This record gives sequence, C-alpha cells and structure tokens, in this order.
Amino acid sequence: MQSHDEIEEQKNSIYLCAPVNALVEGIFEENIHLAEVLRHGDFGLGTFDDLDGEMLILDGHCYQINSAGKVTEVDGQVLTPFASVTFYKPENFYEINKETPFDDFLKQLNSFMPSPNLFYAVRIEGEFSHIKARSVPKQANYHPLTDIVNEQIVFDFDNICGTVAGFFTPEFMSSLSVHGLHLHFLSEDLQHGGHILGCVPRKVKIGVQTINRLELTLPMTKDYMGCDFHRDINRDLDKVEK
Ligand SMILES: [Zn+2]
Repeated sequence: MQSHDEIEEQKNSIYLCAPVNALVEGIFEENIHLAEVLRHGDFGLGTFDDLDGEMLILDGHCYQINSAGKVTEVDGQVLTPFASVTFYKPENFYEINKETPFDDFLKQLNSFMPSPNLFYAVRIEGEFSHIKARSVPKQANYHPLTDIVNEQIVFDFDNICGTVAGFFTPEFMSSLSVHGLHLHFLSEDLQHGGHILGCVPRKVKIGVQTINRLELTLPMTKDYMGCDFHRDINRDLDKVEK
C-alpha cells in the first residue's frame, strides 16, 4: 500500500506556502516553518523571514544565500514568508553544448515549454561562462519590496559549475508567484549562489517537468489578513524579480 506521502507526491503539483503579493506589499514575516514547505516538495526556491537572503531547495536540502554571498544549509526550523516547491520529476531533458547568451538561452528554455498557461519546474546543471546573481540584506518588515532593489547585492561569477532551480509561472498568476521564469543558482562547491539576473551557459543539461496543479496556503497572520491587495503589483514585481 502506498503511504500518504507517496500519494501526495504523485499529484505533480506546485506548492506555494503564501501568495507572492504579500511579499510585494512588504509582509516579510509569515513565520512558516521550512519543515512544512518540505512536506510538499524537495525542489524549489523562495526567501526567508525578513527577506534574509535567497532560498534554493535541491534534493530535499535547503540552502540560504545571504547578502554577503555566504551559503548555509538550513534546517526545518527556519521561517519563510514565501517559498515554492514541487517533487521534482522531469519528463523531458535537453542539452546545450555551446556558449549561449542569456536572451537566447531564455528563448530556448521557453521553447521547451509547450504552453505559457501551465507551470514548469526547470533544473539546469553544468558549466556556465557567467552567472549574474543577487541576494538581499535582511529587511525590516513593511519596507516596500521595490526599495530593496536599491539594496540588493549583485555577484558576478565567471567559469562556474553549478545547478539552477526554477519555475515558470503563467502570467495570469502573477499575484500568486513570480510570473515567467524565476531561477535561483547554487554552485557545485556550495559556496556561491543567488537569484539569477543573467547567465551564459556553456555546457548544461536541462530537465523540465510540466505541472498542472497548484496547492496554495493562505497565511493566517494578522498582517496578511489585514492587508489591502487591491493595488496592481505587477510592475513592482517586474522591477524586483526580473
Ligand atoms: Zn528569486
């Protein structure tokens, strides 16, 4: 007989522990334990309470990349206001074997996804000529997310091996998750990483998983329940995440 976990795993869903619009409105503390997030997936990305760095989850291990660029593996006790995960089971694989500028790379990735109206998990592993990534310094709650762009720390890595984990989200779901491709990087030696602003792959393998089911938890915090979400957050989100 299958365990409850195995049945959940087979549902092939993306799980969001909160909608991203709360983050955009400056609610940086939802106090969701990472352990709860990891019950819903072993692969994904997100951030931490108080926006304390970038999160990347690979094979059930969660890494925090802080604004000093330091990578730490964290346990289930850490807290997050936003994370998105799935149980990674790619159905299609691709390879890129020549240096490919970022715009061309994005076009290729998009061509691996048959419709912009579904979710996709994407895992990219191999050698990159260049990675431009960022992390953010810890923030006070209620600080508008768009201001944080001015405080982000950008890292440039040349000739680096590592793994990119990310998701594609349909544009019409932009209040729930970052729409389009959202990618985070971790180097093979677990020393570097961040939210990807640009990259030039040289020799990489790409796995793509199509996902047609969404599981979303709405926070029950006072901040979230009292927040006014009428504002269109799309422009803010583009400024911060693209
Ligand atoms: Zn990110």
